[in-house]
Amino acid sequence: MAGKIKEINAAAFKKEVLQGDKVVVDFYSTECPPCEALASKYENLSEIYGDDIKFIKIFRQQNRDLAESLDVTGSPTILFYDNGQLVGDRLAGGIKRSDLMKNLDKLLSSQKAEQLKKKIQQVETETDVAILGGGPAGLTAGLYLAQAHLNTILIDTALPGGYVSTTHLVSNYPGFIEPQPGFMLSHFMSEQAKTNGVQFRAAVEVNDVDLEEKKVKIDGFETIKAKKIIIATGSRPRPLDLPGENEYRGNGISYCATCDAKYFEDKEVVVIGGGNSAIEESLFIAKFAKKITIVHQFDHLQANKDAQKKAFEHPKIEFLFEHEPREFKKNGTMDMEVIVEDLKMKDKKAIKTNGIFVFVGFIPNIETFNEKLKLDQWGYLQTDDEMRTNIPGVYAVGDVKSKVYRQITTAVADGTIAAITISKELE
Ligand SMILES: Cc1cc2nc3c(=O)[nH]c(=O)nc-3n(C[C@H](O)[C@H](O)[C@H](O)COP(=O)(O)OP(=O)(O)OC[C@H]3O[C@@H](n4cnc5c(N)ncnc54)[C@H](O)[C@@H]3O)c2cc1C
Repeated sequence: MAGKIKEINAAAFKKEVLQGDKVVVDFYSTECPPCEALASKYENLSEIYGDDIKFIKIFRQQNRDLAESLDVTGSPTILFYDNGQLVGDRLAGGIKRSDLMKNLDKLLSSQKAEQLKKKIQQVETETDVAILGGGPAGLTAGLYLAQAHLNTILIDTALPGGYVSTTHLVSNYPGFIEPQPGFMLSHFMSEQAKTNGVQFRAAVEVNDVDLEEKKVKIDGFETIKAKKIIIATGSRPRPLDLPGENEYRGNGISYCATCDAKYFEDKEVVVIGGGNSAIEESLFIAKFAKKITIVHQFDHLQANKDAQKKAFEHPKIEFLFEHEPREFKKNGTMDMEVIVEDLKMKDKKAIKTNGIFVFVGFIPNIETFNEKLKLDQWGYLQTDDEMRTNIPGVYAVGDVKSKVYRQITTAVADGTIAAITISKELE
């Protein structure tokens, strides 16, 4: 095993971990993308911290009883021990290097932690193409570039897959007769890109992007220098910027039905919005909740006709048209209030509910690029027909770019076009 890491099994746990001094333990599995994303970070940090903290790995599938006794139910899970006592955060899923370092530092004196930081070496990696964002658009671009034998590094602040991985079922992606669970479709896409040679930097922190120089600095120590950069960072749900929204985000207010609808079995929810997302997600939430009140600012919905028909006919869904939310309040667990204003009468009232879902559109993820990229009036990146932005050698694909329809099929089409354009330009 590379780095200063020791692999053990359950029999050695007492001696190596509980009777150890300062120890970090990684419960991993095979065929586990987040475990693969973690492996190089863990190895690299073991080189830096390994003389002061013991780095242990345990194969979870073969040490199930031990894992379960420690309440470790997923891979990877990282636990920190100080003299046999569990300390720090329990890290799981797409684990960031900075979160690992924060917890490792806590095991040491601040002086020692600072001293070790000086051991971190800056690395520059050269590549033909760097792709920012591993949703359908970035993964497709990567696939085509790798098949054209171009060195391609795909950088994602989360695990690759993008929005598709959180979509419940995808029924309109060609090639599959039955609707596909979103996480499976995104898994196929990222595995296909990887098998063809795309190198991944997953769950990283993007510290700096210099589009003119084509340099991307990640995780505080690696600078990727590319000949071309593709921006495929997608978009994220637009917040309402109302009192209480930030406070109760993820704690009463959700932006993802696939992630959270299951918690509202037989409960009442309020949905804010009236477009495609709001209506389609409400239909999904209706599988769990007993009542859904859709609050919408206009007197009609903007969703596609088919979704509208289903929603109007659904016995669990009610509508409050020409009302806007003004404030969110929480009185206790699953005890929320939405203060809404009647836009015609101008009076306000409170709706009591168990949970709130907000679906009022998206904003492009472009904050990391502080350079002079040309935007459309809604803030999306403008490109020509071959996905070139106004900065030479920089391309934009998928939901982050200015376009009429944002779908998986249009994202993969953009990725294809950018990759073929780049392949020809680099010939
Ligand atoms: C709830 C919902 C349901 C949907 N259902 C369907 C459907 O059934 N069919 C369909 O065709 N489309 C559907 N869509 C739309 C579809 O998901 C998107 O059009 C598609 O995912 C866009 O792909 P993308 O690669 O452009 O962006 P995304 O899928 O958003 O991926 C962007 C990636 O970039 C990463 N990223 C963000 N910022 C940075 C950064 N600074 N640096 C590096 N990486 C970064 C993110 O982590 C993410 O992995 C749905 C969308 C939503 C929200």
